[in-house]
Amino acid sequence: MTLPTDAAARKAAANEARKERDRLRYATDPEWAEKKRRQAREWGRKNAERNRARAREWAVANPEAVAKRQAEWYGKNKKIQRKSALKRKYGLTPEQYEAMRIAQKDLCAVCGERDTYSSTSGLCVDHCHETGRVRGLLCNRCNRAIGLMRDNERILQAAAGYIRHHDMVIANAAD
Ligand SMILES: [Zn+2]
Repeated sequence: MTLPTDAAARKAAANEARKERDRLRYATDPEWAEKKRRQAREWGRKNAERNRARAREWAVANPEAVAKRQAEWYGKNKKIQRKSALKRKYGLTPEQYEAMRIAQKDLCAVCGERDTYSSTSGLCVDHCHETGRVRGLLCNRCNRAIGLMRDNERILQAAAGYIRHHDMVIANAAD
């Protein structure tokens, strides 16, 4: 039974010959070449649409698988995302962040403690919301506290004075 092999070989040879003819025509017949390019573009577009539609259908049918994929992707790309987020939000390179972290000895610039509270890695970059200028690295709680106090020095000092005043009231009552 050599026939199928012969047939396959003949087919392959015919294919090669056709490809060679097409290459020659492509090189010498600009009109035909343009038509071929247009067909290739259309084919690509049609398939892209079909692939996108299939992906959408699959995503709708498999929400759990989608969530898992996203989690995996996020895990893998955490470093890259962090790097681009640093740059986008604060104009910092990872090296600049590293230098700040080392200079602060991993301690929050306000409370002086390590960030053991947040689940995310490391200290937050604190920046002035008006000028965008980076001020320093803060633990998650201090960073949020300053934000909740509207980044406002007067309010923060008023809060400190308020606590001091009431501590004094309690101390005097104890005398
Ligand atoms: Zn802190």
